Amino acid sequence: TSFKTGLQGHLFILSHDTELRIEAETDKGVKLVLCKGTAEVFGTELVSNHEYSFPPGARLAVYTWYGCEVVVNGDRHKCYKSDTTPMVKFLNLQVVVAQERERRKRSVLNGPAVLVAGPADVGKSTLCRILLNYTIRSGTKPLLVDLDVGQGNVSIPGSIGAQIIDHPAHPALGFLHQTPIVYHFGHFTPSMNSKLYDMLVSQLAEKIQLRYGALPESRYAGCLIDSCGWVEDAGYSSLLHAAREFHVYTVIVLDHEKLFVDIQRDLPGVHVLHFPKSGGVVARSKAARKSTRRESTRSYFYGMKDHIPLSPHSIILPFEEVQIYEVVESDIPSSLLPIGETAEGIKPSVSKISPSKQMITHILSVSSASDPDLILTSSSMGFLCVTDVSLDKSEITLLSPQPAPLPKKCLLYSEITFMDMQ
Ligand code: ADP
Repeated sequence: TSFKTGLQGHLFILSHDTELRIEAETDKGVKLVLCKGTAEVFGTELVSNHEYSFPPGARLAVYTWYGCEVVVNGDRHKCYKSDTTPMVKFLNLQVVVAQERERRKRSVLNGPAVLVAGPADVGKSTLCRILLNYTIRSGTKPLLVDLDVGQGNVSIPGSIGAQIIDHPAHPALGFLHQTPIVYHFGHFTPSMNSKLYDMLVSQLAEKIQLRYGALPESRYAGCLIDSCGWVEDAGYSSLLHAAREFHVYTVIVLDHEKLFVDIQRDLPGVHVLHFPKSGGVVARSKAARKSTRRESTRSYFYGMKDHIPLSPHSIILPFEEVQIYEVVESDIPSSLLPIGETAEGIKPSVSKISPSKQMITHILSVSSASDPDLILTSSSMGFLCVTDVSLDKSEITLLSPQPAPLPKKCLLYSEITFMDMQ
């Protein structure tokens, strides 16, 4: 059917407090137009009669508080209506956090920090996005803290970071980040080096306090913390560590009841709430996860195809203009440790490496540190991808979002790769 919106597609009529769940096909995206009433996508209000395009594979819900009509151009069988959504619960949570924010304005405390926890694919990022959007719509600019190295919602996957959110998310593109604080971890799961992960989480908490603690508007706004889906063993310890470092006011546990009980026991004095997983949240296959990660790294360099295209630069530098370091694990046998020292007490450190062919396709971060000893405790200024190493010419070629020169020379090597196939 073609409606007055001009979009060819299927018309869906939604009554109040229901949502239309949509899955875009993997080879082509989906388009939609709100033609009557009011509706939102994960907390961002849709503009009537505007055509929104979502990328291939996107999964989304058009939710309405009061009823609406929406035209969707996509496979009809991949869209269905549901009246069992957690949106009223989410809104109530938002009201409680807003009241706490107001209360804290009269105290010496920072604004409330809300940590969203749960295994993978339970809707953690979606809940953070909804709450952030509602907070902005109420006139406060909150901080998004992204501790999920698997997704990279603030910078590229493999990093953690924070960003003040001053605009609602774009329905299809999410939040657009300008000047985030970023720390480079270099793996997609904290289990690869949980000591380093915890160290970076502490650094991030400290840096946020330094940057925003003195600005009243940011200080009282509070933050939403999106966490990793790794909630067992050391992953659980890292979650508790993050909750303590950010002095969380409340932890929302999605889906996982045991995690809820454990956190209640281990974080006395913190409000711990349990929400069931929304029926709309879809589990992603390993391949889908990989492709999302690739797309996220690609868009760091190339921007978003139809929306904000970027043109990265290819920089050729002599070897002496860069200093590349890698993280070294503390795998010293305990027999070689000084008396009284345990491997547990040893902090991760870095050691210098020479450019080599094996580095091609690997991601390097530009450390804000000038002193190698400070690399692991310093934030990243940006990321580069090694596209060539010439041992004959002693030159390294880097894909960079900025033209030469590099702002700093200390680069941190990571196991993360990106195939530049533009
Ligand atoms: P997590 O952060 O726990 O891994 P996400 O929030 O990323 O989970 O959600 C997983 C996927 O489910 C995402 O693609 C998201 O867009 C989708 N999703 C979340 N809520 C809904 C919903 N109500 N309807 C349709 N898709 C949804």
